[in-house]
Amino acid sequence: MSRARIVLAPGREAPFVGGHPWVFSGAIARIEGPAAEDGAEVDVVAADGAFIARGLFNSRSQIRARLYAWEETDLDDQFFATRIADAIHLRTDILRLTDPRGACRLVFSEGDGLSGLIVDRYGAYLSVQFTSLALAARREALVEALVARTGAEGVILRTEKGILEEEGLELRDGPLAGTVPEEPIEVFDAGLRFGVDLRTGHKTGSYLDQRENRVHAAAYARYRTIADVCSYTGGFSVATACAGAAHVTGVDSSESALALATANAERNQVAERCTFERGDAFKWLEAQADAGHRFGMVVLDPPRFARTRKGVPQALRAYERLNRLALSVIEDDGFLVTCSCSGRVSAEDFAGTLGRAAGAERRSVQILERRGQASDHPVRATCPESDYLKCLICRVS
Ligand code: SAH
Repeated sequence: MSRARIVLAPGREAPFVGGHPWVFSGAIARIEGPAAEDGAEVDVVAADGAFIARGLFNSRSQIRARLYAWEETDLDDQFFATRIADAIHLRTDILRLTDPRGACRLVFSEGDGLSGLIVDRYGAYLSVQFTSLALAARREALVEALVARTGAEGVILRTEKGILEEEGLELRDGPLAGTVPEEPIEVFDAGLRFGVDLRTGHKTGSYLDQRENRVHAAAYARYRTIADVCSYTGGFSVATACAGAAHVTGVDSSESALALATANAERNQVAERCTFERGDAFKWLEAQADAGHRFGMVVLDPPRFARTRKGVPQALRAYERLNRLALSVIEDDGFLVTCSCSGRVSAEDFAGTLGRAAGAERRSVQILERRGQASDHPVRATCPESDYLKCLICRVS
């Protein structure tokens, strides 16, 4: 097969030689050889022509090529099936996420050397997201490999508008294989039951990346009055209530998320200790402060505040404001569980916002646990952007 060659600008080789999978347009001097088609294989070569890596091309994306192999191998269906098999091997044989009623991330994009593919397993069903045009074009073969490896009863495609635009992708939500239930299905997570709406839930249906953080936060929850701010379907609410919290108030801006949160509290027999309210995180916390309410624990798990590098300063200000509000309503010897899922915001910068919030509110904040995404969302050492979730569990006095 003859492939187009992306020739890097002089001095731009280092990240790719070092294993980073994203070739942005700015690093490219020129493209040589046969015309590069969107979705086709390309070789990335140094300014002197030396081979560096092989990837898939997309002229419509800022990420012009996503790299998959650092040797001259064909990126054919067999190649991707092998990568999928290795990703599943990690979850089943190493992490032991094998409960057939459980949920876990089976494929985490760059974390599994499959930039642009996310696959979550919810019981017998798979929920798939493509963030790369080239892998979306190969979806039939990828889904076949996934079903062959997992025996899934159904596979559903989920999309996010912003990502589709970034990649020039035209896809619509819907089944890719088998049948997918219309109603929310029930999955077991860390011993708790959760309803997941595969067709309309956020992302692939839920936020599996917080699984281990919910367990750790719950360890401090006993007898506490808790505010779970940006609760979605009540992941932290149910975990803390089941761990013996006196009362939990979950707050979210999404009505449908709150309906499922209420059902999730009922499923786990903690409905009498859980209340869910629709509201804006900032305004709700301000109202609590004004009313003089105090909490033994506040969980902050807002949506991604920074999508791009340019958006980082504004995101940091928003994190600082939100954390200040939370600190203003936490009782002495209470806990703050504060999260950021913005990959662009570094762990240092996020901890910095917490420090400034603590100083401004004149509170003592001690970080007890620095946590990240669950282990089925592995961080690729050569792609720091895959290390996106930050979760700090803090004591507040
Ligand atoms: N903590 C959840 C995941 C939260 S995801 C879990 O463990 O599953 C972020 C949530 O923030 C989403 O449910 C979204 O609906 C909500 N959200 C977004 N903007 C908000 C706002 N301004 N105020 C309150 N909730 C908001």
